[in-house]
Amino acid sequence: MIKDKVVIITGASSGIGEAAAKRLAGEGAKVVLGARREDRLKSIADEIVNGGGHAIHRALDVTSRSSNEDIVRLAMDAFGRVDAIFLNAGLMPSSPVSALKTDEWDRMVDVNIKGVLNGVAAVMPTFLKQKSGHILATSSVAGLKAYPGGAVYGGTKWFVRDFMEVLRMESAMEDTNIRTATIYPAAINTELLGTISDRQTADAMKGLYANFGIAPDRIADVVAFALDMPEDTTVNEFTIGPARQPW
Ligand code: NDP
Repeated sequence: MIKDKVVIITGASSGIGEAAAKRLAGEGAKVVLGARREDRLKSIADEIVNGGGHAIHRALDVTSRSSNEDIVRLAMDAFGRVDAIFLNAGLMPSSPVSALKTDEWDRMVDVNIKGVLNGVAAVMPTFLKQKSGHILATSSVAGLKAYPGGAVYGGTKWFVRDFMEVLRMESAMEDTNIRTATIYPAAINTELLGTISDRQTADAMKGLYANFGIAPDRIADVVAFALDMPEDTTVNEFTIGPARQPW
């Protein structure tokens, strides 16, 4: 059941996070939206609330441990519990290694890796106390296969895969009743390509997405499916992308 679940969503100001927020709220979840662009969060939350749903929001920078703790605290203060967190914030400034865009490498490590760690660290004490919780994360098809241009981006997403899989196993071993789901999307039409500064890579990716990209609502469907599973069931890994994708 999704109804009445309290779900924190990171990267909720656009794309996959926004679509998931609207979808889950439409099914009766109480969503807690986090990202840096607070104005965007506010208008998404307003839309949900005006439609009869439950949504609150807070500016969140996933690279900051205390910012992650703050959004968990907000959820607890507003709703008294947290049932799930969707660790979805990310960026993809892909480029060839030889371009040496080292600041972008650092940024991807900070957001795509440390952001996930910070989110888990912030919510875990609550989940352990409740003896239940659901952690969902957005990896990528680039977390399953290697792609030229995606050495660092892909590396951050391979990390998410490893981390989430070990978390799943340890949660079972420790009997914490914390479930996991990792999502591996490909070519979803969002604002993600706007993070690419390398001209050649950006042009190639834009062409590919224009040809193959699908809507973020499809990922929201998968998030809803995973969350809807009964407590005794984990549906753990989803790859989802365009039916026509040749890669
Ligand atoms: P968007 O660019 O539309 O969304 C990215 C989200 O991440 C935004 O809400 C952005 O919000 C947020 N974000 C970025 N940096 C931070 C930060 N420091 N703190 C908090 N939030 C942050 O792209 P998508 O919806 O596509 O991306 C969502 C996830 O999906 C990412 O992890 C991406 O890697 C993954 N993904 C996407 C694919 C695609 O084809 N689109 C394919 C595979 C995976 P703000 O700027 O307001 O902080």
